[in-house]
Amino acid sequence: LGGSLSKAIHRMTNAMIIDDKVLDDCLNEIARALLQADVRFNLISDMQANIRKTVNLNDIAAGHNKRKIIQQAIFDELCNMLNPGKPPCFTPKRGKTSVVMFVGLQGSGKTTTCSKYAHYHQKKGWNPALICADTFRAGAFDQLKQNAAKVKIPFYGRPMESDPVKVAVEGVERFKKENCDLIIVDTSGRHKQQAELFEEMRQVSEATKPDLVVFVMDGSIGQAAFEQARAFKQSVAVGAVIVTKMDSHAKGGGALSAVAATESPVIFIGTGEHMDEFQVFDVKPFVSRLLGMGGDLSGFIDKINQVVPMDQKPEIGQKLLEGNFTLRIMHEQFQNILKMGPFWAMVPGFSDELMPKGREKESQAKMKRYMTMMDCMTDKELDSSSPKLMNESRMMRIARGSGRNIREVMEMLEEYKRLARIWSKMKKSLKIPALSRNMN
Ligand code: GDP
Ligand code: MG
Repeated sequence: LGGSLSKAIHRMTNAMIIDDKVLDDCLNEIARALLQADVRFNLISDMQANIRKTVNLNDIAAGHNKRKIIQQAIFDELCNMLNPGKPPCFTPKRGKTSVVMFVGLQGSGKTTTCSKYAHYHQKKGWNPALICADTFRAGAFDQLKQNAAKVKIPFYGRPMESDPVKVAVEGVERFKKENCDLIIVDTSGRHKQQAELFEEMRQVSEATKPDLVVFVMDGSIGQAAFEQARAFKQSVAVGAVIVTKMDSHAKGGGALSAVAATESPVIFIGTGEHMDEFQVFDVKPFVSRLLGMGGDLSGFIDKINQVVPMDQKPEIGQKLLEGNFTLRIMHEQFQNILKMGPFWAMVPGFSDELMPKGREKESQAKMKRYMTMMDCMTDKELDSSSPKLMNESRMMRIARGSGRNIREVMEMLEEYKRLARIWSKMKKSLKIPALSRNMN
């Protein structure tokens, strides 16, 4: 999705004169990309119509940047599609007891996600509890029990009981007595959408009267998202969506369908298997990623516009386009990634280099170490891309200043050289000259 979308935007930014024909072409191209990403046709045509309404090219006064206005309209419209246009969903209230039920197909990430949700609230001072009402899948009990133990959250389940309604009701009663303020019910799933599953969800919901039902979806499901979400919504009162596995290559385009089908907002995203890999949903970065991870520069310029504070923008853009990958740019990249996560390497493809999958913790520690060293560098050193500048006495000074040894400083400089080589290769494939024209 990102690829084709950013290509469409790229084409638009390259057109010298933007008229209705260009707008049509772009919208059609975006439509194709969204269709490929399994967004429903109805949603796409709504979006097109809305963009046509927002962007009346004739009305834009001369001198205004039409290109920017269209880009902004597309961005805003995708944000709107993720906004169900209703008041925000139920959020648990302090001093009361809330019951939250998790539903979704098997493998979507319910058990992991409800544990993360509990843990997230626990860290904020809540007193959550977890109930395993999945009596269908062998192993469901142990899995949730282990998750609960890991994060020290009270757990209720009965491995030998086959009636999920019974277990759920018992659990809710027990934890109400124990004054838990956030009672979380994990339910079962099936591989397919089967009548029994939906009937079971309906019964569990009727018996436990949840304040909120969360629909959990795998970020990489495509076309199926709409029907799946709608099927759940028809049996239980889904009020929120959580999209999991956003650490994968999936762009999460299916979230648009789930929001439309359930008329509910996305509240969190899952970004890994661990309990802390869980983030409050933020629409703008989500849409930026949807649009901007395609691997061409227009996408990443778009991303710069979204991520980098106004006052830094021209400088970074200009520096990147001039093509000198300096230590200062490396420092900025590290900072972005440490602050915002691996999605935010500004150069597409860079995140994989900086933070190889499965080695995130290690890479983070390394980046932090390198940053302390870079903090001891002079402006001249940071802005130079000449390897000759870094002589032994400079390295000694940096090592002393950062409390590291000279070997580590050399290692950091090697890493810099490696990234600079990759950067120059990428720059060639990205055809920078064609784009610099569009940077203003
Ligand atoms: P359930 O069947 O819906 O309860 O799904 P589970 O919680 O058992 O998750 C299924 C698989 O997806 C497990 O291997 C989880 O570790 C994995 N998983 C869940 N959420 C995420 C996520 O956000 N990122 C990644 N990479 N894996 C996840
Ligand atoms: Mg489960």
